[in-house]
Amino acid sequence: CGIAACILKNGKAAPILLGCVKRLEYRGYDSVGIATLNSSIIIAKDEGKIKDFEKKIDLSKFPGRIGIGHVRWATHGPPTKENAHPHLDCEGNIAIVHNGIIENYMELKDELEKKGHSFESETDTEVIAHLIEEYKKSGHNLEEAVRKALKRLRGAYAIAVISSDEPDKIIGARKESPLIVAKGERGYFLASDTPAILEHARNVIFLEDNEMVTIDDNGHQIKDLEGNIKE
Ligand code: GLU
Repeated sequence: CGIAACILKNGKAAPILLGCVKRLEYRGYDSVGIATLNSSIIIAKDEGKIKDFEKKIDLSKFPGRIGIGHVRWATHGPPTKENAHPHLDCEGNIAIVHNGIIENYMELKDELEKKGHSFESETDTEVIAHLIEEYKKSGHNLEEAVRKALKRLRGAYAIAVISSDEPDKIIGARKESPLIVAKGERGYFLASDTPAILEHARNVIFLEDNEMVTIDDNGHQIKDLEGNIKE
């Protein structure tokens, strides 16, 4: 339903991300979650309201100036803690948030299970994390692995991905589901909707279908799914 992500110049991503997902509440949601990246990925998620989630989590346990956040409107799998986003790969080195529906997730899940992947949730989203893991295992860097994974997906998506193997970046992508990139005083933001980040950044780029963006401290780069750089 709603995505937010940030790379701050300094300070902690977790409270900023919570603020961003709160501004997506108006869209309606059943679950909430965040993940931040320090040397490893730290994650918290639950079904229910953001204000209850906020009371339960201890923000001091979330170091890291890079992170992703999500409010979910369940399409595949009921609203439970396990089905809430972010979703992880087997090793917990890759975390993803997703809006939309992956139509061919069953066949991808079968294929990945045959390769030894085990799944924690009933969502369509989780297959994306495992697909990225599979492509990383065969030697691709994060950006290439995400690109290869996206080429296998049918359906609609806006995603944001972080990995502890390349802990300085966020990768975003979209197809038939909105995603914006924004730059502000405090750093770079990604979101499904402008209200999420307006408080932090007014310089906004709307990604187009089948575009990917890689953001790090040096800036952002938009590419198509063939890896060609776009303006
Ligand atoms: N299809 C995904 C799920 O059910 C994403 C739903 C959403 O856009 O919030 O978890």
